Amino acid sequence: MCEDSKVLVVDDDVVTTRVIEARLRHIELDVHCAHNGPDGIAYATEHVPDLILLDVHMPEMDGFAVCEELKKNPLTTNIPIIFLTADLNTEIKVKAFDAGATDYITKPFDNRELIARVEAALKMRFLINKLQVQALTDPLTGLLNRTALFDELKYKLMRQKSDPDYQFAVLFLDFDRFKVINDSLGHSAGNELLVRVTRSMVDMLDEVLGHKGYTAARMGGDEFVLLIDKPANNQMLTGLAEKLQTELHGPYHIEQFELICSASIGIVLSSGNYEDPESLLRDADIAMYHAKENGKSQSCFFSQQMHEQSLEQLTLEGDLRHALARHELKLLYQPIHCLATGKLTGFEALIRWHHPVRGVISPLTFIPIAEESGLIVPIGWWILYEAASQLKLWRQMYPNMRHLRVNVNLSKRQLITPDFVKHADDILRKTGLPHNAVTLEITESTIMDNMSILTPMLEQLRETGFKLAMDDFGTGHSSLGCLNKFPLDSLKIDRSFINNVDKNHSFAAILNSIVTLAHNLNLVVVAEGIEKLEQLAHLQSLDCDYGQGYLFAKPTDADDVPSMIEQLNQKFRKTG
Ligand code: C2E
Ligand code: MG
Ligand code: MG
Repeated sequence: MCEDSKVLVVDDDVVTTRVIEARLRHIELDVHCAHNGPDGIAYATEHVPDLILLDVHMPEMDGFAVCEELKKNPLTTNIPIIFLTADLNTEIKVKAFDAGATDYITKPFDNRELIARVEAALKMRFLINKLQVQALTDPLTGLLNRTALFDELKYKLMRQKSDPDYQFAVLFLDFDRFKVINDSLGHSAGNELLVRVTRSMVDMLDEVLGHKGYTAARMGGDEFVLLIDKPANNQMLTGLAEKLQTELHGPYHIEQFELICSASIGIVLSSGNYEDPESLLRDADIAMYHAKENGKSQSCFFSQQMHEQSLEQLTLEGDLRHALARHELKLLYQPIHCLATGKLTGFEALIRWHHPVRGVISPLTFIPIAEESGLIVPIGWWILYEAASQLKLWRQMYPNMRHLRVNVNLSKRQLITPDFVKHADDILRKTGLPHNAVTLEITESTIMDNMSILTPMLEQLRETGFKLAMDDFGTGHSSLGCLNKFPLDSLKIDRSFINNVDKNHSFAAILNSIVTLAHNLNLVVVAEGIEKLEQLAHLQSLDCDYGQGYLFAKPTDADDVPSMIEQLNQKFRKTG
């Protein structure tokens, strides 16, 4: 275990050093001798031996002073030290341990005792080293782990302080859709993919940058960080990110599957502008998110503007935490009409945030923040309760509104909360509104991206009595072929489609097939965003069932709904 370990002997007595050197070489240790403290320190700093035998009494600088210097230096602080002393005085021995000694040997020493103590110290050193390596390595990939990455970043930032010309770059990689692979094929396939991708990545980096030109670490999950020393320029980094994409791509044959990989990569250059690893990684992470938002499978450099944007998001998130308690959230109701008769059939509840400083904030701005932060869960329960009790109230107050229904939008984060179905059921019971008066809207992308998790949950929701709609249909998720797989009641065709229906023949033809297919599947079709009479006429000719849009009414304050309904009923009674 100890052969070839490097041992430094520091003693002013040449005879002692010779004797020790001979005996330790005999057990195949690599021994070096120094005859005074400063020489010993210089050697230890440069060569970092595995063990030091250090004489206590030396002229110029004694063993305790040498030990103190060695303990101060991070490079030498962990080297075990055995003191050599002719002094049998207990005080001296205690002082030696206080100074950080691992052990001591009294001179003249017995050959077997010297060897036994040296071997024991080296074994200990070996085990500690092993533990340290384990503590700094990611067990799956063998790359550095998060702790080691932070140490390395601290070291690089320190180096930058003493050498302003030194630059390095951080590449933050996150695999695209890795969760889908993990969820559908299981963790062991996911792990195998990570190992194989790591191998391709490391082979490429070794070849392009050399073994010492980079540091690779796994942050956890499917997040990796690369530190690139002294990059020539930004183009070099973009080029490297492109090479990584090519290298990562695969295909990887795992089990019976052929898997393709891609990653989103955020890049930050550190040139003296960072103080701590956290800020560097935060900015690399922000840039990585932008790469993901730009369509995944690409890289993106960090910019100050991105930082400001995320600060803004954080501020909004902080404010949103109090929005419910401060009654800043409000639901508007947009009427939904039967297109054949013009009659009002219900509403879609649409949320608004009345921010005390910024005014009204659109759900398109704050729902993503609520999703990311998890705030959508309590907010979502409030929305369901509020919309259902409001409808119940209208049904009670106005006899001609008893048939009306309400649509409530759900987001993915809400749906995956534990006991979602039970909780939604409880809320409806509390309001006293029948479940089938509520249609829960889930966007096409949410359904398509989480098919396996959501399908059983949608079944349960329907069994409870809720109606289900696929929202924003036609926004590019090609779910048409899968429609029969989901337990749905209606399809809401996205506004972008309706916008073009009177302008573009192919849109009208596609819409025609969608309506026919939906009807064959017993789905009701609702058109969103009808703004013009021409669009309405077209949709009527296609046999589309229901519609909503500015042509009928904009999302309206609850207080204004009763009078608006009266007017609408009259208007469509006349025209219809
Ligand atoms: P969505 O569910 O597809 O809602 C329809 C959006 O189209 C609404 O935007 C509505 O105001 C708008 N709209 C309706 N008719 C017309 C029209 O004729 N022309 C135009 N240009 N727009 C029309 P809004 O209220 O800004 O909501 C945007 C999105 O935010 C919603 O899209 C929905 O995905 C989300 N959202 C709104 N309220 C909630 C909510 O309570 N919970 C959740 N999770 N998401 C919500
Ligand atoms: Mg909707
Ligand atoms: Mg929609």
